[in-house]
Amino acid sequence: MPTIEISRPNAGKVSLINLGCAKNEVDSEEMLGLLAREGYAVESSRTPNAASQGTDVVVINTCGFIDAAKEESINTILEALERKKRGEIKRVVVAGCLVQRYSEQLRIELPEVDAFIGTGNIGDIGTVVGQSLIRTDQLMQVGEKPHHRWVETPTRVRLGAPWTAWLKISEGCDHACTFCAIPSFRGGHVSKPFERILEEATLLASQGVRELNLIAQDSTQYGYDLYGKMRLPELLRELAQVNDIHWIRLFYCYPSRVNRGIIEAVATTPKVCHYIDMPLQHADDEMLRKMRRPMSNAGYLKLLADFRAAAPDVAIRTTFIVGFPGETKEHFATLERFVDEARFDRVGVFEYSVEDGTPSAEMMPKVPSRIKRSRKDLLMQRQQAISLACNQKWVGRELEVLVESRSPMDITTAVGRSFRDAPEVDGQVLVRRCSAAPGSFVRTRVVEARPYDLVAELIV
Ligand code: SF4
Repeated sequence: MPTIEISRPNAGKVSLINLGCAKNEVDSEEMLGLLAREGYAVESSRTPNAASQGTDVVVINTCGFIDAAKEESINTILEALERKKRGEIKRVVVAGCLVQRYSEQLRIELPEVDAFIGTGNIGDIGTVVGQSLIRTDQLMQVGEKPHHRWVETPTRVRLGAPWTAWLKISEGCDHACTFCAIPSFRGGHVSKPFERILEEATLLASQGVRELNLIAQDSTQYGYDLYGKMRLPELLRELAQVNDIHWIRLFYCYPSRVNRGIIEAVATTPKVCHYIDMPLQHADDEMLRKMRRPMSNAGYLKLLADFRAAAPDVAIRTTFIVGFPGETKEHFATLERFVDEARFDRVGVFEYSVEDGTPSAEMMPKVPSRIKRSRKDLLMQRQQAISLACNQKWVGRELEVLVESRSPMDITTAVGRSFRDAPEVDGQVLVRRCSAAPGSFVRTRVVEARPYDLVAELIV
């Protein structure tokens, strides 16, 4: 990312390293925007060692979700502290979920870190970085109970492709799924004010964004805390009015909250992709009860049928957890049968992992690792044939594609996505003999289906 020129030169140079999910990426973009506004020269880098020469402060936005992510966060902090020890940078500031979750341990175990900043305090990043540069003691800007505060006006310095952006509509979660620690460090559900979202969408569109990807922990609850009613359908319709936005895509729908209003808004609002991301987590009723997920196998099937009745071409993505404590062969067989019946376009499967402080951490019996791994593989294999069958239905049909890059195997082939493909997680459409620039939309006809990708040709 190019260094941003600043209005108050010599405030210092900050390099930010973003780790974790799309929601963290948005926080990182917002922190960079705030720092730029405060007069810092800012850049993002992949690792502390990649931060450019002259960097004063390295900010690391950590992930604290699962063990692998925690380890990556800690290693990144240690690498930054090494650079500080060698005198190559002045300060190390650590932000994000790991800080919110383990602030006390981190404070004790990493005294060389200059400042910690919690998930609810990212609006204070400018002050924290400024203070860290003049103080010698360790700063701790971490709210005891995380509660998100929105930055009043959009300040994002974009990290990803210019034509597609994550748009966070709410933060935190009011549910109590027994496997999940997120509410403990992201706090309860807090909606972003309606007008603020529209303002941000307009700004993103003016910067060249054509695809808005709406994210939250639970996007279906949008509006309830601020307005006393769920306003997601209304929000989708208003966002569709924003000039130059071409696609709007909805993520993280909590299944029992997906009502007729949401289905209709997705099915009938121009620009809203017929695409739904709805993590179901399991399909056996006993497992769902133990996970504290309120819907049932039959309820899920009815919801899928309702969606398909309203939008027959809807692409449905879900995720499942296998190996939850107490999951037997029979529970898993129910999940397998459900996957066969439900015919999802996309499925992600995660092995259950014990999260500190969650109710399921105490539940027994735990499922051995090798069984979790084999159940994951079995489910993914089963889904592969279904994904291929879903893709085959598109052969011969017309599909609009957002071009994003060129194929590394053949430069005459463009690589893009259709309304059925979310960035980063889904498949791609390979468009033969296409020279359209990245960021443009092209009309294609599908000529071949693969398990994850489609091959298409331009319609001229
Ligand atoms: S709805 Fe999602 S974020 Fe909320 S507790 Fe359940 S799994 Fe966690």
